[in-house]
Amino acid sequence: MQEIIEKLASVREEAMSALKAAPSVDEIEKVRVKYLGKKGAVTEFLKSLGAVDPSVKPAVGKAVNEARDAISRGIDGRHSELKRAEDDLRFKAESVDVTLSGRRTVLGKRHPLNRVMEEVLGVFTRMGFAVREGPEIETEYYNFEALNIPKLHPARDMQDTFYVKDDLLLRTHTSPVQIRVMESMRPPLRVVAPGKVYRRDADVTHSPMFHQVEGFMVDEHITFADLKGVLTVFCRAMFGAETKVRFRPSFFPFTEPSAEVDISCVICSGKGCRVCKSTGWLEILGSGMIHPEVFRHVKYDSEKYSGFAFGMGIERIAMLKYGVNDIRLFFENDVRFLEQF
Ligand SMILES: [Zn+2]
Repeated sequence: MQEIIEKLASVREEAMSALKAAPSVDEIEKVRVKYLGKKGAVTEFLKSLGAVDPSVKPAVGKAVNEARDAISRGIDGRHSELKRAEDDLRFKAESVDVTLSGRRTVLGKRHPLNRVMEEVLGVFTRMGFAVREGPEIETEYYNFEALNIPKLHPARDMQDTFYVKDDLLLRTHTSPVQIRVMESMRPPLRVVAPGKVYRRDADVTHSPMFHQVEGFMVDEHITFADLKGVLTVFCRAMFGAETKVRFRPSFFPFTEPSAEVDISCVICSGKGCRVCKSTGWLEILGSGMIHPEVFRHVKYDSEKYSGFAFGMGIERIAMLKYGVNDIRLFFENDVRFLEQF
């Protein structure tokens, strides 16, 4: 019996030192299999118990069980040690120096065109105008015909158009929204229609894509005095209460009579400068009384209803308001430019 006990003790010692040296979970597992596995060294002792003298059996059995339990605890202990060492390494790697100064977050700014667009729509919505939008790809009918610009009309040359295919084009103005709204609603109407428009034109004051706001008001007894009143309020809200406004006769196919609206120069206050070409005036929008032909297309009775319409370019207003002399700056997205607003 003494021989078995001694042999067991040396197996147990051997297992414990193997565990102590085990550098990884895999190695621990190898030790477990070697001593406690189905064919492990300690397991073999258990199997051989049958051949042991019955008088010493309890003592030998106890010793084997003790050895097995000790190795089991050794395995658990070595597992915890490895885990702790791993955690230490990870915490070290993930440690943060809380005394370091933070990184600054860069905040974006609203684009000057968005600001001007919002301001323009704000003035009109406060006067009771509703905001409506329409498609950027239009048919020739909505972009031209319904607005009294028939085929071969010189106005179609005035607006160099991007065609998508035969009958489809990128709208050259926001006026088609006028037709779409009037087709689906009856007067009284007060609507502003903002959006992107497209023309084959590019230089310091023209961009192939730019923004317009179209507006119109239709009811019984709407006169040119209403047009003048609404647009004068708009110009003064946009450019200051001191702004002078003048209406100059003009021509548009979809309005009759038509008027170009000028404001006193925002740079020189009317004294004359390079921007206003020494005239003291700046052209700001086009307007007029809606042409009876336009009403005919949307089946409004032009004997009963009358109305005015106007349109303006947002880029032009932004250029005048902020003194920007090149339209392309708006689309380059250079933060040094955008930060100035
Ligand atoms: Zn001027």
